[in-house]
Amino acid sequence: MTSPIPILLYHGVDDHAPVGLEPYVMDPARFDEHMRYLVERGCTGLTVSDLCDLIDRGDPVPADTVVVTFDDGLADFGEHAWPILRSHGLPATLYVVSDCIGGEARWLSGFGAPSPMLSWDQLRALDAEGCEIGAHSATHPELDTIPRSELVHEIRGSRTTLAMGLGHPVRSFAYPHGYHDRKVKEAARNAGFDSACAVRNMLSAVDDDRYAIARVTIEADCDVPALARVLDGVGVAAAPRRQQLRTVGWRAVRRTRRRVASRR
Ligand SMILES: [Zn+2]
Repeated sequence: MTSPIPILLYHGVDDHAPVGLEPYVMDPARFDEHMRYLVERGCTGLTVSDLCDLIDRGDPVPADTVVVTFDDGLADFGEHAWPILRSHGLPATLYVVSDCIGGEARWLSGFGAPSPMLSWDQLRALDAEGCEIGAHSATHPELDTIPRSELVHEIRGSRTTLAMGLGHPVRSFAYPHGYHDRKVKEAARNAGFDSACAVRNMLSAVDDDRYAIARVTIEADCDVPALARVLDGVGVAAAPRRQQLRTVGWRAVRRTRRRVASRR
């Protein structure tokens, strides 16, 4: 029996949040407290691909392993999150929406002026400093509701764009909103990714599904005691291998919504 592995999912770290996105933008001082706590607790920080490599080699995963991930590739990662991570000597995996690099988070246009994204120069600097850059689709759609023909651009295309820009292959993918199904997972595997992260709000495990790795969303109001409970697995399930029925039902609702919207 191996220990559950917490893979934490953050989005933004900034002093202010667009209206409606407050749960996803953490105050820099609080994020600093989180990272300080991980170090004080004696956690071993790994990137997603480092963790996968360790597991594939059959090496033991340190008992206090924690993986910090960020979705989207917003500019505030470079301004706030990465300097804090570095000051505590912690690595991270950053999943970037490839068609928006150097521009704006267009998929957030319903929440006021869209947040600026990291530039290519900033991404290359992060990459050089040891931050793992992964792909988070081309435009941030709900991948399990789009036609199969669009999956290629969104998944394989995002890998190609990032590889061209960074000058080396990109190994890991994260599904926007965590939404995925069998064909989305197949597309991630066929595109050449070694791993893909979902959300699921569960702790991961050595035998977790490599193309639907469980992560726990850490919201802005999560204080250090709440983070400690997540790491201890209090109130957080360990990853089961099969999708829950609730996930399948919600997908049907979103697919119907998409069909109705496209008829308008
Ligand atoms: Zn996202």
